[in-house]
Amino acid sequence: MPHMTNIPYSRQRIDAVDIKAVGRVLATDWITQGPKIDEFERAIARFCGARYAVAVANGTAALHLAALAAGLKKGDEAITTPITFLATSNAVLYAGATPVFADIDYDTVNIDPDCVKKLVTRKTKAVLPVDFAGLPADMPAIRKIADRHGLVVIEDASHALGGEYRHGKVGSCRYADMTVFSFHPVKHITTGEGGCITTNSKTYYDQLRALRTHGVVKTADALQKHGGWYYEMQALGFNYRITDFQCALGLSQLKKLPGFIAARRKIARRYDAAFATMGNWLKIPAQAIHGEKHVYHLYLLRLARQTAKCSRRLLYEYLKSQGVSSQVHYIPIYRQPYYRKLFSGRKIHCPNADRYYSEALSLPIYPGLSSAGVDKVIHWVGRFLKTGAGECAAKSRTCHE
Ligand SMILES: *Cc1c(COP(=O)(O)O)cnc(C)c1O
Repeated sequence: MPHMTNIPYSRQRIDAVDIKAVGRVLATDWITQGPKIDEFERAIARFCGARYAVAVANGTAALHLAALAAGLKKGDEAITTPITFLATSNAVLYAGATPVFADIDYDTVNIDPDCVKKLVTRKTKAVLPVDFAGLPADMPAIRKIADRHGLVVIEDASHALGGEYRHGKVGSCRYADMTVFSFHPVKHITTGEGGCITTNSKTYYDQLRALRTHGVVKTADALQKHGGWYYEMQALGFNYRITDFQCALGLSQLKKLPGFIAARRKIARRYDAAFATMGNWLKIPAQAIHGEKHVYHLYLLRLARQTAKCSRRLLYEYLKSQGVSSQVHYIPIYRQPYYRKLFSGRKIHCPNADRYYSEALSLPIYPGLSSAGVDKVIHWVGRFLKTGAGECAAKSRTCHE
């Protein structure tokens, strides 16, 4: 039976004010490289508490440029987490360097600093932690390791715009050298496609701006000396520019970010309360125990106990049959055929990542998800455990006895 109201796992929230803001820019002479880009960059930098922001075409481009600005090149290694979107480690490959996967903390799903420490070699040049699902990684610990070994820290905060560490905001670059965000429609705010890098370093800022547009630099001195048309290509850059009308959307969305985050956190609290009472089959997401602010880009439910009749796969399919979409974030990157080939079959030992992957299911969470929608998700998860395809309840009783 088709469902009238399918619930996606995520979706953007665009309103008439957003549409008007984009329309205003489309009616001007500047639809790309106009004043809205600078305005958006200043707004992001101010929001995060960073000195600079550079807006680019997407989050992947932001990671690529950050990797290049960090100086990653052939022969270098960069340590990152296997539980992230492909783009994090692909950016290391784009720069010609080799990604090295450190295991995650089983509870927080964030990169484990102790594992990072053990993987540092003379070749290590950077570390790329991810604020997974919206919970900030253990950045003070990562910074300490980076300082000891002279590593550049590129924080992939695609999930965590608006998040906070115990001290300071994600994106403030209090711990990272560069922080990357994505504005893809499933992320906290959207520009359609889009991304940015925040930094407090003028050197990185200048490099990122040049690399975004073909590595071309124009200086007042050179223009004076050679003429107004003059430009110099000083590095091999790209066209990774974002457009002015996208930045108008970003500016309009940024104003709503606090409300978006409050809505996500409210949904997470309702899920937590409901699932915590459903027995030992379920594991709710780690709470931010050190006073961090979790912004719940994803709500990660885990089936900590599974049987042939009560599995993550069956829950996924059962929810789908009831009109509720869920997702798995993510398959450990080293399991991807491309990466397997790259490591020519060498075994990557990340038991926590593998275990997490076998249990995880991301449930719907987004600002426009109604209270009735949340009820529906909770209802069907409960039904699955009790009477659904899983028949978990009978088993659960025997387990408790
Ligand atoms: C979304 C995402 C990216 C890539 O962003 P795009 O804007 O889609 O290129 C990178 N890393 C993580 C963790 C992401 O979630």
